[in-house]
Amino acid sequence: MTQTWKVIALKMGELTVEKSTLTYFQDFGQSMVIPIWATAVYGGGYNILVDTGIHDVQWVRDNCGPCAQADDEHIVEALKQGLGWSPDDVDIIINTHLHYDHCGNNKLFKKARFILQETEWKAAHNPIPSQKGIYLSELFDSVDYFAWKFVHNEVEVVPGVKVFPTPGHSDGHQSVLVKTEEGNLCISGDVSNLLVNIRENIPAGILTSTKDIFDSMERVRSVADRILPGHEPIIKKYQTCDFPTL
Ligand SMILES: [Zn+2]
Repeated sequence: MTQTWKVIALKMGELTVEKSTLTYFQDFGQSMVIPIWATAVYGGGYNILVDTGIHDVQWVRDNCGPCAQADDEHIVEALKQGLGWSPDDVDIIINTHLHYDHCGNNKLFKKARFILQETEWKAAHNPIPSQKGIYLSELFDSVDYFAWKFVHNEVEVVPGVKVFPTPGHSDGHQSVLVKTEEGNLCISGDVSNLLVNIRENIPAGILTSTKDIFDSMERVRSVADRILPGHEPIIKKYQTCDFPTL
């Protein structure tokens, strides 16, 4: 039987956004405060982190929109509070994609291997015009090039933790499937920003392919029992179990 893993949700701050940017032309004019989630996966022989939050609250405010971050919502403090880890304790970073709010602190992890779909690396260096402002090359080019492991399609990173492509929000987006005591948990990234995306089949508003996002959400539904969406407000800071079912 494959090893099971433990998971903890680490809050990396909050963004205030127009809700329709997350729910495909629905809910125009409603503003919504959403958390930014990074997730640690541990207890199976490796310390793994899925996404690394934002690098600088003021940069986000100046370039994207309102943003807040409590003291324990910077990655270094969150890892310390939630797990007693320092950045050097992290063996593997999985970036779901390279938008600024998912790879902001990559460069702090000097001992980690970085797992990314090669398609996303290419997309991040040549973004479609509508996504130029949300890829910030210094956040990923500052990582030692040889620390990256570029993958293609579905890959088992370590036994019980796999990545699989879920394009649509970005060209090379991937999600993570983790075997836990509660079943297969999908750490989805932004294929499902909010729970409502995947539960009601409503795509996010920020997309590179509308067709791909429907296929990707279906793929998540077909493999996962539970989900931790990239920006879902009902998830609690440091939550370790009872993640929403699909
Ligand atoms: Zn994104």
